[in-house]
Amino acid sequence: MEIINRIPRMMSMGRELKARGKRVGLVPTMGAFHEGHLSLMSRAREMCDTVIASVFVNPTQFGPSDDYERYPRDLARDAELAFTRGVDLIFAPLASEMYADGFSTYVSVEGLSDKLEGASRKGHFRGVTTVVNKLFNIVQPQFAFFGRKDAQQVIVVKRMVQDLAMGIEIVVGPTVREEDGVALSSRNAYLSSEERKAAVVLRKALERGRALYTSGERDTSRLAAAMRSIIEAEPRARIDYVSINDAADLSAPVVISLDRATLLSLAVFIGATRLIDNVVLNGEI
Ligand code: AMP
Repeated sequence: MEIINRIPRMMSMGRELKARGKRVGLVPTMGAFHEGHLSLMSRAREMCDTVIASVFVNPTQFGPSDDYERYPRDLARDAELAFTRGVDLIFAPLASEMYADGFSTYVSVEGLSDKLEGASRKGHFRGVTTVVNKLFNIVQPQFAFFGRKDAQQVIVVKRMVQDLAMGIEIVVGPTVREEDGVALSSRNAYLSSEERKAAVVLRKALERGRALYTSGERDTSRLAAAMRSIIEAEPRARIDYVSINDAADLSAPVVISLDRATLLSLAVFIGATRLIDNVVLNGEI
């Protein structure tokens, strides 16, 4: 397996693969691979002739108080893990080349980017859509693979691809979880063992929301209150947001409608670590 760092080399490789009629799949990541990432690579392996994983800790999607500097990085380990899933090539560009001097072009998906994660992390999705667009331009994949764990990211990226006629099929993989239900995340590594135990409240709150919905509750404020109370009972947890939104446009309905996919999502600080999770009711994102 090859690791490519330079943009021109990746571009010519992408062009060549396309010219040879290969079905190219891209799995964009920030590295620190876990089963969540690897499951997307396996899915890509099933669907594509050539599987490319990008590893880039993208500075423009981190806020000033975020964890950009201390975000875990281990390219050698990532390459070994990716190899076990049949990835053909890793593209790990340099920040200085992705954002060379004078860089001043950004892609923003308006509206959708300002809600939920975007409300808490100003500018986050502008960074995401800009880098994903650039990765698409460089690699020229036919398919790109994203995890449902970051549901709003999927919704925003799909909007961008549709609005700008990028002609790339977005494939969404299910959220991979630990045995106790905690979603795998590179940020789980920041948790102490006590905090790791406490992190299960995210999943518990979402499951409570789902159970209430299944038993007939449709009122979003009552559902959200029930979810909040579960998190509030955990002393190590602090709610950033608990939200119920239409999965297509992220509007906030008063009552869940049976014919609309609905996203229950939350962001919770466990100690100093901010974790997110979600479930989708009534359909898919
Ligand atoms: P990241 O490296 O955190 O930017 O994630 C890269 C990709 O992996 C994104 O599409 C994420 O949604 C996806 N991902 C991260 N964690 C999980 C998980 N637990 N299950 C499924 N996909 C995940």
